[in-house]
Amino acid sequence: MLHLLDRSPTDIAAWVVEQGLPKYRTAQLLRWIYDKRAASFEAMSDLPKAMRGVLAEQFQLWSSTIVAHKHAGDGTEKLLLEWPDKHRIECVLIREGDRRTICISTQVGCAMGCVFCASGLDGVARNLTTGEILEQMLRLQSLLPAEERLSNIVVMGMGEPLANLARLMPALSIATTPNEQGGLGIGARKITISTVGLPPAIDTLAEAGLQYHLAVSLHAPNDTLRNQLVPVNKNIGLESIMAAADRFFQSNGRRLTFEYVLLGQINDRVEHAHELVRLLRGRTALLNVIPYNPVSGLPYRTPSAADQERFLSILEHGGINVQVRTRKGDKIDAACGQLRRSQLQPPAVVELQS
Ligand code: SAH
Repeated sequence: MLHLLDRSPTDIAAWVVEQGLPKYRTAQLLRWIYDKRAASFEAMSDLPKAMRGVLAEQFQLWSSTIVAHKHAGDGTEKLLLEWPDKHRIECVLIREGDRRTICISTQVGCAMGCVFCASGLDGVARNLTTGEILEQMLRLQSLLPAEERLSNIVVMGMGEPLANLARLMPALSIATTPNEQGGLGIGARKITISTVGLPPAIDTLAEAGLQYHLAVSLHAPNDTLRNQLVPVNKNIGLESIMAAADRFFQSNGRRLTFEYVLLGQINDRVEHAHELVRLLRGRTALLNVIPYNPVSGLPYRTPSAADQERFLSILEHGGINVQVRTRKGDKIDAACGQLRRSQLQPPAVVELQS
């Protein structure tokens, strides 16, 4: 059956006309899906019964099964979703003050091969479709009470978003459409796309002229170390990534974020901090330092508190705007493809409170 979320608003409008229905039914249908959180066609009470019947015959509203739903004590919830082809992905809802942030995936697995990351350990199976990206947003939105809305999106789940930009962009366009026009009503400035650093795709994103926020995963201050930690870097190089990031900043004007996963004894040395200061100095940027979240089976470690402090203090003294990303939901394997790996048994619905 066709996944309705894979039909663009224009496709849906054409379908409505084909069915001989009045045009305003499109707007009603879109509102039910994205704004009014309908979980079934049946629930779309102001659509004619016959229309609901045809929709249900031809389309699936949601196509995933929830394989696991985990709650962390800190308000973070994580879903492991399975698609009809049995592939699984993760997405997360993070509650922080008034913010309701979701972290979504763009691919099943990842082809970038970052050596410390759980998502890419088995490579990439496929891109997610636009509908599958939207479905994560809707599934997570449905965890909120009616009076709460999603406020922020971080595209930091499984996969490399800029390797699937063609499917991500239409999904974000619906996310940023106002509620009354049948979207999720999330401001473009509240959306962050995190990338390993693919210069041509960064340029494509810049050319789209949207207010999305770009985060570039650096993880090393020089090519020798980055080639080891982020193998795709061998074909790209830091210089061209920094140049693309600068062009993005020129065109979009939003402060760039650079991410740096701190791996004990590997990229957390004094000389790395000094080199990072030289690399970032003079840029309007925030450096987000992320203490490594250990992945079972991998040899990497979270640095000691003293080593983290030393690293941060060199950056601060060097005039770099630096922030440590606090860990949310680490008890529920909320980071980076870890839940999927810990659930490689046959599907079972679990409801855990930890
Ligand atoms: N492909 C995108 C999105 C990846 S996930 C990118 O590379 O940016 C978002 C961030 O989490 C990336 O910076 C990624 O390197 C980092 N990350 C991956 N595994 C991690 C782990 N185990 N602990 C901490 N951060 C991790």
